[in-house]
Parts: sequence; C-alpha cells; structure tokens
Amino acid sequence: MLFKNLRQDLRIADASLEASGAQRSAEKAHGRLERLDDRLSHLAMVTEALWHLLKSKTGWTDEMLMQELQHIDAADGTIDQRRTPRAIKCHACNRNLPADGRDCIYCGAPPVMSSPFSKAW
Ligand SMILES: [Zn+2]
Repeated sequence: MLFKNLRQDLRIADASLEASGAQRSAEKAHGRLERLDDRLSHLAMVTEALWHLLKSKTGWTDEMLMQELQHIDAADGTIDQRRTPRAIKCHACNRNLPADGRDCIYCGAPPVMSSPFSKAW
C-alpha cells in the first residue's frame, strides 16, 4: 500500500511538472503571438502610409495597386488572396527545397536571393 501511494504521488508530481511546463510554453507562445500581431499591425500602417505617399507623388491609383496584387496572387498558379511560395532547387546540390529562405537542409548551402523578397517567403 505504501509503495502504491508513493508511486501514485510520483505520477502526480510528474504530471504537475509537465502541466507547469506546458503552461509556460503556452504563455511564451501567446507572448510571441502578441508581438507578431503588433509587428504586423505596425507594418500594415507603414505600408498604408507609403502607399498614400506614392499615390500623391506618382498619380498611381488604388486600381493599379489592386491589379498588381492580382498579378502577384496569380503568379503561384492559384488565385486565393495569398502568395504561396513554390519549392526551389538548391543551387549547390540541385535538390528540391521549401522556399523558406533557410540554408539547404541537405548540403547547408545558403539560399540564392533571386529577388529582394526572396527571404520574406
Ligand atoms: Zn543543397
């Protein structure tokens, strides 16, 4: 009986530690999500401000911007209001890689930046 209670106490203590760790992880993830949301909101404001400046200086219109957005949306083969990155080939080992801007997972070669936005996707 004593061993059974001891074993049960140990299991409870392990579960409690695991729950505390999970709570800390959830709190960290929540904090990161809030910071990302703040950064996204700020970037949206900067983008809008830049667009207003461009419109006032160039005569470009909202319709022109919408047309360009549709062009970029369609470039991945699917019009779905998002830009889905395509797989790329490593310039060093020629294997297929996700287009996430990280070094090659096979040979470690750094990605080739084919455009200023390569690393953003
Ligand atoms: Zn490679």
